[in-house]
Amino acid sequence: MNTSRSSSAIYTTEPLCERCQRSLNSAVYEVRIRGESSSRCLRCALTHGPLMVRSFLICLGVGTLLVAINQGNIILRGDASMALAWKIPLTYAVPYSVATVGAILNSRLKPARGDAGSAGEIQ
Ligand SMILES: [Zn+2]
Repeated sequence: MNTSRSSSAIYTTEPLCERCQRSLNSAVYEVRIRGESSSRCLRCALTHGPLMVRSFLICLGVGTLLVAINQGNIILRGDASMALAWKIPLTYAVPYSVATVGAILNSRLKPARGDAGSAGEIQ
């Protein structure tokens, strides 16, 4: 049952994500694991632990700086309104998103297969 399925995946020439074994039809993302590169699908690249940790650290540093610049005077005065309840988390989300998108675009390789016209294009 399960062994026949996994043995058929071994003999296929179709490129697969090295984590979830899904087909890499649209794009391949290269992540580094202990100095070795590994091909991943977008979902597995986005949930790659070191990438998430690095984005989170950037989010903490840059997000705190942005909150201090934009809302610091309001917070220090002590008259923070409920609007800050959504502004502050959104301020932290921006550097996390920018760091993650930058890392993902840098790790994207040409599509494993498919038409040459879409190679390297951002879709
Ligand atoms: Zn995957």
